[in-house]
Amino acid sequence: MNPLENLTQYFRDFPGIGERQAKRFAYYLLTKDATFLANFAQSITTLKEGITECGLCHRFFAHTINQTDSTCDICKDPKADNTQIIVVEKDADLEMIRRSKTYNGLYFVLGGVVPVLEKNPEQRVRIRQLMQRIEGLAGTVNEIIIAMSLTPVGEHTDEYIRIALKPVTEKNNIKISSLGRGLSTGLELEYSDTATLKSALGNRK
Ligand SMILES: [Zn+2]
Repeated sequence: MNPLENLTQYFRDFPGIGERQAKRFAYYLLTKDATFLANFAQSITTLKEGITECGLCHRFFAHTINQTDSTCDICKDPKADNTQIIVVEKDADLEMIRRSKTYNGLYFVLGGVVPVLEKNPEQRVRIRQLMQRIEGLAGTVNEIIIAMSLTPVGEHTDEYIRIALKPVTEKNNIKISSLGRGLSTGLELEYSDTATLKSALGNRK
């Protein structure tokens, strides 16, 4: 494999990137000078050094130099509404909801979705961590909002979460809702706009 093909394969692995786009990225980098490439390579090498996965919501966040715990700024925010927790598939979805400024509660990043025929869903997503988190919040949280994409796999994951959480939600009288159908079918949550997200949150059921 030549260097161009080699790099293309890396981009090919990115979410939502096909062969042609991957090749465009690789060709684009060929037009840049050595300093740019060195800085780019460096930013990849050091990417994980300043980033921690939050022990509560599991999002990745840039920690401060003196930080000794693994709790992110959202989970620590005293102004956050801790009666609500929203469950999303991935960090990009969480960012999208934050940017919309229509929600002020807690978050949980599931870390994936559950395909319909998956035999070991608990190994694909953080369902056990979610159950623990909800148990830890029993007495405080009164609503869990499931915010999956309106795709078949998203809907299946929604169902899976509901069933898995049933014992803990019933025991603690916690309501489970899902984003309303303001979202268009087949659209990934990550790509919905603020107005859509606002109405989907307002119309949750
Ligand atoms: Zn957090």
